Amino acid sequence: MIEKIDHIGIAVKDLEATIRFYEQILELPVTEKNEHGTTRVAFVRIGDVDFEFLENNDPESAIAKHIAKRGEGIQHVAYKVRDIAKAMEALKVKGITFIDEAPRPGARGSRIAFLHPKNTYGVLMELVER
Ligand code: ZN
Repeated sequence: MIEKIDHIGIAVKDLEATIRFYEQILELPVTEKNEHGTTRVAFVRIGDVDFEFLENNDPESAIAKHIAKRGEGIQHVAYKVRDIAKAMEALKVKGITFIDEAPRPGARGSRIAFLHPKNTYGVLMELVER
């Protein structure tokens, strides 16, 4: 069902400062930058895993709430699946609940859904179908 880690989502307060650190200090170039509503996103690729940096200064956003509660850092881990509807169905049968009842559009033409973190021992997990 789960093929590999697709990306690791990292909540940051200052996307531009984060990009400078990754590009200038770690020499890892940003491969893509975009905005989804009030969330600003940048991707850095390491091997075949992306880091997804997320900045959202709206205090009601999931990103701002994560930072207020836990500080900056890893916010979620995304697993690549071939068929997200099938994967969700298989997990629901096993009693797993989701934040997203059905797949929704994600970054870069993907379809995504977040598992409810109460099921997953403190790790917010996202399924991604490309
Ligand atoms: Zn993500």
